[in-house]
Amino acid sequence: MNVKRVALLGATGSIGRQAIEIVERSPDLELCGLLSGSRPLDALAAAHGVAHAQVGGDATALLEACEPDVVLNAIVGFAGVGATLWTLERGVTLALANKESLVAAGELAVAAHARGGGLLLPVDSEHSALFQCLEGRSADVVESLVLTASGGPFRGRTRAELERVTVAQALAHPTWSMGRKITVDSATLANKGLELIEAHWLFGLPYERIETVVHPTSIVHALVRFRDGSLLAHLGHPDMRVPISFALSYPRRAATPVPRLDLAAGLELRFEAPDLDVFPMLRLAREAGERGGTFPCAYNAANEVAVAAFLDGRIGFLDIAATVERVLAAVDGAPARDLADLAEVDDEARRIASGSRALA
Ligand code: NAD
Ligand code: MG
Repeated sequence: MNVKRVALLGATGSIGRQAIEIVERSPDLELCGLLSGSRPLDALAAAHGVAHAQVGGDATALLEACEPDVVLNAIVGFAGVGATLWTLERGVTLALANKESLVAAGELAVAAHARGGGLLLPVDSEHSALFQCLEGRSADVVESLVLTASGGPFRGRTRAELERVTVAQALAHPTWSMGRKITVDSATLANKGLELIEAHWLFGLPYERIETVVHPTSIVHALVRFRDGSLLAHLGHPDMRVPISFALSYPRRAATPVPRLDLAAGLELRFEAPDLDVFPMLRLAREAGERGGTFPCAYNAANEVAVAAFLDGRIGFLDIAATVERVLAAVDGAPARDLADLAEVDDEARRIASGSRALA
């Protein structure tokens, strides 16, 4: 059996910890490199006999040293861009959880992927679901992609009701247990906005052929509409170990210990339209995606700054979208030629977002 060497970036996070559980259960996977943002990795590296463990710094230095067969990029935020581009450029298999890198660097990533010729396997549950529904089909039979959203903890609220929601309320996600940033993104629907742009780059469809729909129980992860009017859906309990395992064991589809869906227990599938007035982050993402260039990069940067400020208690929940809207109106969105260009755009968007005292 060929053992796959896995470099795990963001090893101490929500995805990182679940990935370790999957690797521990799989005789054909071994960890060759570990990266975290700030938490120490000594115990983890020792437990798994990993020679290359790095806290902070340049992810590509770790990747050069540890010679992975698969890179699982589970870093949070724009900080993951360098690792995504490095991996795609070299044709190393990329298991991608870090959606922000594809949002910010979509064009560069697609070009690097084409040059490198390796596998790009989405770990985001909706995109893993779409990947599975699309496997083996030609593009011309696909009418549209449908991303489902739980709607987050504030589904059904009015704008006025969202003015005073607390950090704790925003962090109480109804169906998924995840890191703090993505949990707030789910409450504002920015997460679905990021996923819309992520889907555009992963599957190469124009935005008007990517739909979003609210599905409160998160059992259906995504659907594909075909030209004959039929839809394929991907179902399962909301458990990230499934898409993580799918990407790491691809194309073998390893067994996982997750709870099985009981169809006879009264399973009901409800869908509703997202409320774009109460949750403008989804509308702003679509606009940024359609405008193209570096608008998505600016959207992402402004959102990162605003979410951090909200989590720190410096701004209110509705200020997140207001900040992003202000930044998108101020930048020129000119395309980036390379990572250095993109880093400048990201910096500039952060500077504009931080313009008010509360956000600095
Ligand atoms: P998290 O906050 O729990 O973990 C983030 C990890 O990234 C930590 O290990 C942290 O140390 C590391 N990190 C942060 N900054 C870094 C830096 N500059 N350099 C290196 N490492 C750094 O986040 P998470 O919930 O695990 O999410 C990780 C990524 O996966 C995000 O992009 C998120 O959108 C995506 N994702 C997560 C889930 C989920 O269920 N948690 C689902 C889908 C997609
Ligand atoms: Mg998702």
